[in-house]
Amino acid sequence: MHRFAVLALALLMMSCGGDSKKEKKEPVSIGSSEKTEKVETKTTAKGVEFNEDGTEATVTIEGDDTMKFNLKEIKVKEGMKVTLTLVHTGQMDIEVMGHNWVLLNQGVDIMDFGGDAASAADSDYIPSDRLDDIIVHTDLIGGGESTTITFDAPAKGEYDFICSFPGHVALMKGKFIVE
Ligand code: ZN
Repeated sequence: MHRFAVLALALLMMSCGGDSKKEKKEPVSIGSSEKTEKVETKTTAKGVEFNEDGTEATVTIEGDDTMKFNLKEIKVKEGMKVTLTLVHTGQMDIEVMGHNWVLLNQGVDIMDFGGDAASAADSDYIPSDRLDDIIVHTDLIGGGESTTITFDAPAKGEYDFICSFPGHVALMKGKFIVE
């Protein structure tokens, strides 16, 4: 009787110990991450994060081997500093499936610009006589590569972004919106 009671008590303590350990760990880590405000970034939309005081936007956009960007729209706020990373998630070579991210000024016809860009192979499809039409652009990259640029968001409004690699503008395009 006595031995049984001790055994039962031991088992009870073991199981209690195990439970309390488990239960304690999770709430503590959640509580501490909230208290220390570990959540510095706020996801606003797919591929876009704002920092806590709303002064910076971090954008990640992907291009693949099927000539597609994963984002059709990128929204940031006026006055933000934007850090944009273009990731080529494909495997194809830069010569056949090169991608860049080119942000164009308002009023620029993207097909017209794409036509001029197609003949600018020497400058990675950034036509030197149309630099005034470009707000900012990344380097041209191939499969498996990535490239990052930082720029100040332009004035409020809607802008077009494209990939200026020959033939890509028709599919690889989207809106960059400054609110
Ligand atoms: Zn492309």
